[in-house]
Formats: sequence, C-alpha cells, structure tokens
Amino acid sequence: MTPIYFDNAATTPLAPQVIEEMLPYLTQHFGNPSSIHTFGRTTRSAIEKARKTVANILNISPSEIFFTSCASEADNQAIIAGTNALHCQHIITSKIEHHAVLHAVDHLKKTQNTTVSYLQTDAKGHIDLLELDQLLQQHPKAFVSLMHGNNEIGNLNDIATIAQICQSHQAYFHSDTVQTVGHYRHDLQAIKADFIVGSAHKFHGPKGVGFIYVKGAHKIDPYIHGGSQERNMRGGTENVAGIVGLAKALELAYEGMDQHRSQIASLKTYMIGQLKSFIPGVQFNGDCENEATSLYTVLSVSLPNSEDNDMLLMNLDINKIAASGGSACTSGATESSHVIEAIGGDPTRTTVRFSFSRYNTLAEVDYVVNVLKKYYH
Ligand code: PLP
Repeated sequence: MTPIYFDNAATTPLAPQVIEEMLPYLTQHFGNPSSIHTFGRTTRSAIEKARKTVANILNISPSEIFFTSCASEADNQAIIAGTNALHCQHIITSKIEHHAVLHAVDHLKKTQNTTVSYLQTDAKGHIDLLELDQLLQQHPKAFVSLMHGNNEIGNLNDIATIAQICQSHQAYFHSDTVQTVGHYRHDLQAIKADFIVGSAHKFHGPKGVGFIYVKGAHKIDPYIHGGSQERNMRGGTENVAGIVGLAKALELAYEGMDQHRSQIASLKTYMIGQLKSFIPGVQFNGDCENEATSLYTVLSVSLPNSEDNDMLLMNLDINKIAASGGSACTSGATESSHVIEAIGGDPTRTTVRFSFSRYNTLAEVDYVVNVLKKYYH
C-alpha cells in the first residue's frame, strides 16, 4: 500500500513541473550569479525572472522581494532588522505564533530594551482586534507581528483589517504568511502589510528557499552580512535552483488555486463529517469548521482520553499514515504544543493534525477514519 501523506503543513511534495524547471539549474546552468561571464549571467537572469514572477503575483515591485534560505530566516529578519530600522521598542504579537516569530521576539526582549504585549486568544484561537486597537493607542508606532494562517490549528487572521488598524496608528505590520502563500491570493496593494514571508516547501516547491517582502519605503539592515547579493540585503551565494523552483511552484499554485481549494476544502469537510459519525467524543481545535476563518488545508483533531493516545502517531505510522501531533518534537524531546496550551486545550485529550494537499483523495480520508475507528470506538 502507498503511504498516505496528511502532513502537508509540515512540508509538501515537490510538483513534477517544479523539478523539471529546477533541473537545468542543478546541471548545466551552474554559474555563480555574481560572476560576470555567461555562466553567471545565465543564473543571474534566472533569479531576476523568478523575482519578477513572485512580485507580479503579489502585486508589488520586484525590488521589494528578497530571497532567503527559509521562512524562519525571513521572519527573523523582519522582526529583528525591522524593529531596529524602524525604531520600534514595543512589539505586539500573540502566543500562538510560530516559534520563528516567538523566539525572535524573545531574543529582542533579552538583548534590547524591547517590551512585548501578547494579544489574548479565545478558546477557538481567535484574537480580538479591539484589543489590538486599544494596545496600539497605548503604544503607537509599535511593531505588530500576527500570522495569517496558524500552522497547528488552522485559524486565519483577517490580515487586511489588521494592516488597516496598524496603519491608522502608524504602527508597522509583519505577517507570517507561510501557511497561506500559494494557497490564498495576497494582493499587497490591498493588504497594507510592511513585511510578509513565504517558504517554497509549503506549496510544492523545494526546501531551503523562502522570501521576505519588505515594503519599498523601508530600509532595513541585512540579516546575513557578507557579499552584495540580494542588493546588499543578504550575503551568500544564491540558491539558484531553489529560487527558480519557488517561482515555478508559486505560479502553478496560482494557476490551479480555485480548483485545488475546492478539492482540498471538500476533503476537509468530508473528514470532519466522517470523524463526527464514527469517533465518539471527537472535537476539533481552533475554528476548523468555519471556512472563512480556518485554513482549508489544516484539520486539528482533538481525541478523547484513551490508553492509545500516547502511541497514536506511532500507530498511524504503522498503518502507513503520516500526520503530526499537537506537540513539537525538538531534539528527540516531546514538548506540549504552545498553541494548544495558549487556547486552553484539555491536557487529557490528544491532538492529531491532518493537513492536506491537492494530491490527497477521499479514499485516503476513508482509510484514515477506518484506522482511527480501531482505536476510538
Ligand atoms: N511560520 C509558519 C507558520 C510555519 O508553519 C513554518 C514552518 O512550519 C515556518 C514559519 C518556518 O518555515 P521554514 O520551514 O521555511 O523555516
């Protein structure tokens, strides 16, 4: 049996067309883009073409896109270099952000005079925009970092409205858009964010490449000091094949977005229905059943207390099902999820995150529900 991959929020398989596009840059086009000879000019022009593709899709200027090694780097750059350059001493964020954001903020708390406010989240994981507005009245010109789609529970923030609120207080807005780039349309003329980030491996592109959008008016420092690559914003020889792959993956994601969205959303809805029918006591973390406020790619399932809970992911794996737990496994040690904790999740229940892509099928959902039935009946 072919294994079932329901862990697409962790990473996605490369699209075949992306591999095809990247291959020449892993074989014959190997020049260093900083070299002035033909080999270098070929790869330089591939990078600039990719930058234009990404910029056109996001409706911005190519000069506002900088390629990075991943979204964690891009989040760190936005927060650390952004707060520094914009002279922001107060950060407003939430406790359910990705660690790339939370730990960058912690670093600033430890090393600078930065102070931080964390917005409250309710039991469904929603933040309160009135609270944001009130905090901004106390801390105008703050640096706000709020994600678009939550990678664990799938909640979506209304980033267009958040950006407007920030603008009205002359505050700066960074959004970790890793789980939504390639899955939702971002028109950055309409969404007045100052920084957003993306990571190719979340939308069927390669690992090891991401980007940061920096609104043109902002002059921030490089995060990696070195050569003059990325217009002095990121030293280091570019990952040419990765950048070419990122642009191709984003192009493909946009071409098929409406169709992929309805296909994946119906898988999610179907799975919710099947789980409710066959698993007594099943619940869902976040606002999973509301498509307007939940990623269509993520379903965070909360299972009742059972002797099988500890072994659940292992048992799924034995049954050839790949999913994630509601906890992060760092260096072999399992920590409880900061997101589930922040929304007041019941510690006696166990969480499994299923996350979908366009390559998944209804038959795979049926198989997974049948396996789960064996453990929870
Ligand atoms: N932010 C979010 C919301 C994510 O889901 C992830 C990856 O899981 C990251 C940031 C980090 O992305 P990368 O793997 O490119 O560093």
